[in-house]
Amino acid sequence: MALFDRAIVSVLPAMPKRVVRRISSRYIAGTEIGDACLVVAGLNAAGKMATIDVLGEEITSAAEAEEIVHAYHDVFEAIRTQGLESNVSIKPTGLGLELGYELARDNIETVVRHAAERGNFVRIDMEDSSTTDDTLRIYRELREAGLDNVGVVLQARLRRTLGDVAALADLTPNVRICKGIYVEPFELAFHDFDEVRDNFVAVLDELLARGSYVGIATHDEWLIAESERLVAVHGRERDEYEFQMLLGVRKPLGDRLVADDHRLRIYVPYGEHWYAYSLRRLQENPKIAGYIAADTLGRLVPGRGNGRP
Ligand SMILES: Cc1cc2nc3c(=O)[nH]c(=O)nc-3n(C[C@H](O)[C@H](O)[C@H](O)COP(=O)(O)OP(=O)(O)OC[C@H]3O[C@@H](n4cnc5c(N)ncnc54)[C@H](O)[C@@H]3O)c2cc1C
Repeated sequence: MALFDRAIVSVLPAMPKRVVRRISSRYIAGTEIGDACLVVAGLNAAGKMATIDVLGEEITSAAEAEEIVHAYHDVFEAIRTQGLESNVSIKPTGLGLELGYELARDNIETVVRHAAERGNFVRIDMEDSSTTDDTLRIYRELREAGLDNVGVVLQARLRRTLGDVAALADLTPNVRICKGIYVEPFELAFHDFDEVRDNFVAVLDELLARGSYVGIATHDEWLIAESERLVAVHGRERDEYEFQMLLGVRKPLGDRLVADDHRLRIYVPYGEHWYAYSLRRLQENPKIAGYIAADTLGRLVPGRGNGRP
């Protein structure tokens, strides 16, 4: 089955977009802001917080980046008027980083100011390692401009990350720690599963020791157990950290965290630019593509496709 799953994933980029969309629908709230708000309201009713991501990684012009800025403005308004428990996550490239540093910095600042006017918070996602320096520089510039309703993401996969924790220490940053999804060269990143886990634990320990608010973003049960241990060791109160998960991934584990009285925030992406995000999520977990392909085949070929979860 693993070979079959991997084969499906390798041909995903060549598949019609509507097929990828069907396979990836569990990870995405929809294409409209109303879709995202409905999903967030459901999560809130289940005791979960959210962070809304306007998908926009494929932008090629300043005008498209500006559209994303406006989209976030509408999101803040919707969150406020509907009384949702949600902040937002933004991607520097979606706001123009590949087109120019100043453009992205100005766009991000605008989004953070819109959030501040409505008492909301902006998490700057971390993309591949070619963007790390610029992203951390933008974060520092915003904080030094007096904006504190903004947080950043650090990736345990990168060898530099403990150094980044030390370099950011004067800001006592609000940090999401995650493994990191991008494939990086060996010189820059740990490739061994246990090394990434160990670095995640070391980075989390360091952030908690330095007084940072931490969003612990993982679906890895071993890491979640280690994180629960560490927040207890550091004497963190319930509202001084949070767990974070992706929409559509390991819901029972999230339910368990909520039942154990941890705060949990779910990452809720929506928007027209759903394609790149979907490919990443599916490439991360080939089994999903495999199940759906088997199910589809099962309807065409009797005897196949009965193994769907
Ligand atoms: C809220 C949130 C925000 C994130 N933000 C960023 C970011 O800004 N930058 C960045 O580089 N990465 C980000 N990531 C992705 C992250 O870096 C990892 O790639 C991803 O979370 C998988 O790692 P894991 O810790 O869950 O462990 P893994 O070992 O990869 O997964 C543990 C288990 O979770 C399940 N699982 C994991 N992923 C999936 C999936 N896609 N579909 C179905 N099941 C799955 C599987 O059962 C797997 O065995 C974010 C993740 C989360 C949860």
